[in-house]
Amino acid sequence: MPEGADSRQLKFRDPARARDLGRALTAAAEAMGRTVSLMHVCGSHEQAIARYGLRASFPRSLDVIMGPGCPVCITDTPEVDEGVALARQGVTIATYGDMVKVPGTVLSLGDAQAEGAKVEVVYSVTQAVELARATREPVVFFATGFETTAVATAAALLGGVPDNFSVLSAHKYIPPVMEIVAEMPGSKVEGFLAAGHAATITGWGVFEAFVERHKLPVVVAGFEPLDILAALVKLVELVRDRKPEVVNMFPRCVTREGNRNAQEQLFKVFRPAGGRWRGIAHVPNGNLRLRDEWAHVDARRRFDIDLRPLWKFAPPALVQDCICGDIMAGIANPKQCKLFGKECVPDTPVGACMVSSEGTCKIWHLYGGVPDLSSSDAPQGEVRP
Ligand code: SF4
Repeated sequence: MPEGADSRQLKFRDPARARDLGRALTAAAEAMGRTVSLMHVCGSHEQAIARYGLRASFPRSLDVIMGPGCPVCITDTPEVDEGVALARQGVTIATYGDMVKVPGTVLSLGDAQAEGAKVEVVYSVTQAVELARATREPVVFFATGFETTAVATAAALLGGVPDNFSVLSAHKYIPPVMEIVAEMPGSKVEGFLAAGHAATITGWGVFEAFVERHKLPVVVAGFEPLDILAALVKLVELVRDRKPEVVNMFPRCVTREGNRNAQEQLFKVFRPAGGRWRGIAHVPNGNLRLRDEWAHVDARRRFDIDLRPLWKFAPPALVQDCICGDIMAGIANPKQCKLFGKECVPDTPVGACMVSSEGTCKIWHLYGGVPDLSSSDAPQGEVRP
């Protein structure tokens, strides 16, 4: 919050402003006379949209699609396999809670733990470092998440870690995947809502080259209901007016340059590298891998990770029906998956999208996806935050 600002004046959930923005959104979208498809690439945006019932208030002609914005969901199967293989080889794996349930080719880290492997849930990289300090056994931090989380991993390494601590990096970098989605054959996406927290690090300027290349507008948005509504109004207006621009609708946190200190730490430790995102594709520069100077803490270089014992088994049959990849690419929604809410539920997830609190399937399972208000008397454009 800016110095001197009074939180009571910010009124992020002011019903009157929400109603005004809802009406503005309906007017802008309906003026197009056709369906407008926009994509956000952030699980926190989907959570806010679902939790506050915003999607039910969107005009019928506005399609807001969730793209590959859940860091847990896009952690690729072989990356999970690497963690599982290390755990089965006797190394302690420390990782975030959501990662424990994410299926690998045949096993999750939770399955490995049930077999007797040491898998510890941590809330931060700092906690993983503390875990290593408390033992002489090798501890590998299975590091997942986008650039926002990768900065914390980088800072921990720069701050010094014990010799028995390593990192298995599955960190991802968001900007390159927008290129992939924009270039997907048949993509209907006409504009992107960019995640405000990631842009706090990278700055909004990082999207300028993308906009120039693809002639698609990008609006940086915060996470309060009014932030999202205001950003959507702006994005629809940019599409309507054929203005491919970057607009920062989260100026209380995001600047054009971003957090230079964080960027410096991030790229001192990590380098962007091509690699697969689960269900999406090979994303050039979409993975963050440890630089050569950090080889001594890179689990991939310190350990002989043998995946063959895992890959000799066939994946569970149900996995074949998981359409997580299509959901993250924005060409399907969870209700189009025949396992949704039946064989696949949060307690027994079949695919990665049902595991994390930022996964589309889990969010839709919790909040109902697109509530049908057709039988209620709530007119479109009405929002009740
Ligand atoms: Fe995959 Fe489950 Fe989502 Fe279906 S409901 S796409 S099986 S995660």
